[in-house]
Amino acid sequence: MLSIFRRTAIAALVMGSASAFAQTPAVDYALSFDNAVHHEATISSTFTGAKGEYLDFRMSRSSPGRYAIHEFAKNVYDVTAVDHNGKALDVERVSPYAWRVKNDPAGVKVTYTLFANRADGTYSGIDETHAHLNFPATLMWNEALADAPVSVNFTPFAKDWKVATQLAKTSDPFSFTAPNLQYLMDSPTELSDMDIVSWKQESAGKSYTINLAVHDPGTFEDVEAFVEKAKKVVATQMDVFGELADFDYGEYTFIACYMPQVNGDGMEHRNSTILTNVLPLFETELGHNSHIRTLSHEFFHSWNVERIRPADLEPFDFTQANPTTNLWFAEGFTSYYGELTLKLTGEYDSKTYYDKMAGAINAVKLRNGPKHFSPEGMSLQAPFVDAATAIDPTNFSNTFLSYYTYGHGLGIALDLMIRSEFPGKSLNDVMQQAWKTLGKPEKPYSADDVQKALADGVGDKAFAADFFKRYIHGQEIPDYAALLKNAGLNLELESPDTASLGPVSTDFSNGAALISAGTIAGTPLYDAGLEKGDAITHIGRYNTRDKARWDLALKNFKPGDTTTIRFKRFDKELETEVTFYQKPDLEITEMAEDEVSYKATSFRSAWLGEAESEDER
Ligand SMILES: [Zn+2]
Ligand SMILES: [Zn+2]
Repeated sequence: MLSIFRRTAIAALVMGSASAFAQTPAVDYALSFDNAVHHEATISSTFTGAKGEYLDFRMSRSSPGRYAIHEFAKNVYDVTAVDHNGKALDVERVSPYAWRVKNDPAGVKVTYTLFANRADGTYSGIDETHAHLNFPATLMWNEALADAPVSVNFTPFAKDWKVATQLAKTSDPFSFTAPNLQYLMDSPTELSDMDIVSWKQESAGKSYTINLAVHDPGTFEDVEAFVEKAKKVVATQMDVFGELADFDYGEYTFIACYMPQVNGDGMEHRNSTILTNVLPLFETELGHNSHIRTLSHEFFHSWNVERIRPADLEPFDFTQANPTTNLWFAEGFTSYYGELTLKLTGEYDSKTYYDKMAGAINAVKLRNGPKHFSPEGMSLQAPFVDAATAIDPTNFSNTFLSYYTYGHGLGIALDLMIRSEFPGKSLNDVMQQAWKTLGKPEKPYSADDVQKALADGVGDKAFAADFFKRYIHGQEIPDYAALLKNAGLNLELESPDTASLGPVSTDFSNGAALISAGTIAGTPLYDAGLEKGDAITHIGRYNTRDKARWDLALKNFKPGDTTTIRFKRFDKELETEVTFYQKPDLEITEMAEDEVSYKATSFRSAWLGEAESEDER
């Protein structure tokens, strides 16, 4: 208390007579969408109580949960400003991202137009059906007022629009508040004619409201069916941590927009998530049930990343990229649990789940990325790959493996290691330890803190140190076949008799197989000297002018066969020798009943739930 009074007293002395009229700092936004059809919003921001001769306001260059730079300022124009008497102020653009006016502490009102036509977790999308708003892509802000309370007022475009947001409610259904800039920017908001279903979830003696808001061309019955799936996800993930996160204002909101004009995405926030998908709920099978997959991943983030939070993301800096070495854990382990949850809720049958795991394991074992970067190094690549755009080519097909996939693979390995070496324990014990020591008290973590949670969760410091040294700081690949064997599962070649040239992207639109992405080191095509841009016309005697002929050509060779490849490069016709290898992809299958031990089947059901009965398969 003393320090607050002292600071006030000093400020009054320094500011002299002006302090007598000093305004309480506040930032008030008003948004309207009269030109929604052409994707425009009119936005005003009133900055009150800022000190100093000049007032700067800016657009963000980054958004929480996205790791690349995004120049949101490019979609802002017609910027004007007035003082608290309504007198026009000269607006100077002081950088590509910031503007400046002469300050009026009693309030400077800035008005601008925003163009917004990409509805997802990073950008904003406005049209006659909705205003889907991510605030770093939408709102100008002033750094000196970052701690000031915020109000946001919307004028809906259509009468039937409702609002879904984690912002604090007021008595006016279109007015909301936030305690400060950080919370405001973390609070994406959708206005549309949506369906909202709410339910109560008890946790640790408190009752929380979970809202599922869906903007979708389907029916209310579609939404209700989806709610039943979401309830199972919430309950299953609560079991991992033992309780829900203590949501601010007692609420968590899934903000889902499944309209055809969106871009598919999912983005986590403290008390909400954005879920976008171009498919409506009634076509979810066309997208391999991606609606519930994204929901499952994002809800897990309400513990892991929103509260069990990397220290290098705090506080979030909206003026630059926010790199962290911990995405293998924050995103990768979330991917592991996002998928495992759906096996446990019954959304996936065993075969589907084995294929998902095999996908992650194949990537970790077969891709070249882990030869170049550890999981921590790969996490630091995020600013270049996470919705990043650039025109200069990269060698990512050889050097990058997504930290989602890399971390997913390590989550599988660590859970299996713990379950085999510490009977009765699992990765859940580690997540609970991390929750108790880091997440619940909201103590942002370093890698050492996660290592300690692992050590304490399993009660073995040496095990944790060894795991981090080999697999997190280092680049070793776990022995998946041995680990899966403990669960009575085989990890074997999917098709040992299939000849392959390696994974390759081809484009047949010009009557040849044009290699459209960099070839991959260690594959027959790479070793034969073929590269992106080469147009393969023949493999042996087979013409490869379309996909059907390409597939036919490959089918006629066996692993170990050598043949000639004819191709065009830089307008010249060339040829080279290539030797096929065995298709290296692995698959996971259950061991036959007569060769699997009781111990292994118990291990498996403790991990993946009881096996479905034969007629359910
Ligand atoms: Zn929408
Ligand atoms: Zn995520």
